Amino acid sequence: MPQLPDSNAMLNPTSLSGAIDAKRADLIELTRDLIRIPTRNPPGDCYRDICDFLDKRLSHHGFETKLIRAHETPGDSDKYPRWNIVARREGARSGDCVHFNSHTDVVEVGRGWTMDPFGGAEKDGKIYGRGACDMKGGLAASIIACEAFIETHPDFAGAIEISGTADEESGGYGGVAYLAEEGYFDPARVQHVIIPEPLNKDRICLGHRGGWWAEIETRGEIAHGSMPFLGDCAVRHMGAVLSEFEDKLFPAMAARHTDMPVVPDGARQSTMNINSIHGGQPEFAPGDTSLPAHCVPDSCRIVIDRRFLLEEPLDQVRSEVTDLLEGLKANRTDFEYELTELNAVLPSMTDRDAPVVRTVAKAIEDVMGKPPEYVASPGTYDQKHIDRIGKLKNCIAYGPGILELAHKPDEYVGIDDMVDSAKVMGRALETLLLPQD
Ligand SMILES: [Zn+2]
Repeated sequence: MPQLPDSNAMLNPTSLSGAIDAKRADLIELTRDLIRIPTRNPPGDCYRDICDFLDKRLSHHGFETKLIRAHETPGDSDKYPRWNIVARREGARSGDCVHFNSHTDVVEVGRGWTMDPFGGAEKDGKIYGRGACDMKGGLAASIIACEAFIETHPDFAGAIEISGTADEESGGYGGVAYLAEEGYFDPARVQHVIIPEPLNKDRICLGHRGGWWAEIETRGEIAHGSMPFLGDCAVRHMGAVLSEFEDKLFPAMAARHTDMPVVPDGARQSTMNINSIHGGQPEFAPGDTSLPAHCVPDSCRIVIDRRFLLEEPLDQVRSEVTDLLEGLKANRTDFEYELTELNAVLPSMTDRDAPVVRTVAKAIEDVMGKPPEYVASPGTYDQKHIDRIGKLKNCIAYGPGILELAHKPDEYVGIDDMVDSAKVMGRALETLLLPQD
């Protein structure tokens, strides 16, 4: 783990803070420009466009850039290539490298918007759009922080990196996971990572819960719907699975609490979402006026999304579900099932004493005048790949925006929040990259 210099000297913070204030209009325009590139995922639209945009911007500010396509990762195709950018600015002498990682993708728009989701409108001190808070506002704030820092302290030591990565919203395999596999997060080249996800400007996010996703299929036998006794209804079997979950699994999870500082409070325990359910004939397309054929369904599938705690081993999370299914198989006539694991992500937590945590905590105190709140995220984000694949533990999420607005209609980011968090990021760079003598 890299050494943390003592931050006794104030290192002339007012000039950097002033430089960031002077870039307020630039920060606003940059955020709006980023929102106007509709990087929807799925399918993974405009990844190259946003990388080209960032390439132009960061090259202009002295960064050396690399555009990296994550070939053959999930969703990568010639139509929807998974493009990433890593930009690096070397300092005047050797030292640590501080890396800001933002995902460039945004989730689908959904219903309920009153603003243009890709218009980037500015109104009452806020910028609106899909991805405004999650996380183009954070990306813009980190870029402004780095540019202001470089202008204020051109003689800085070490290096600064900014990456814009694909597919975080779908697991990060074509983004940070790929870069980590390629060595970009090797602790020998990067020592501190800040991910400007929308966790609020006065909170440090140390990590996240784990996730386990699986599909369960129950099997039956097709027959005429007027004589269901001649078949075997897979949906009724799934009903039995769901009752087991209601009677046993949900109460067991609700009783299990964590020492992780997960927010909101409801997520400070194990949870499970039933993501989807489908049994029988395919759903009709909207507008199709056909009537259903009368059949007993021979298959029913659900997808479960189980979020688990640092205190719960993944094996236990799995066996808790499979034990219930095996119990049904032993006791329920003709019960057949298949479970397919779709994905598993272990929980991740950075130590509170890690250099990047202590540095950003001090920076929040300097800028906001009060100590930070430490939190952990209910959902996973790219820290998992930096931790597990990159083996780099000195990583946090810190950025502007209100977590609860992520993925919602009329998503926005507050301009003052972006400015304040840019000052915190800049202050952290001063602590980590300026000679301390
Ligand atoms: Zn995000």
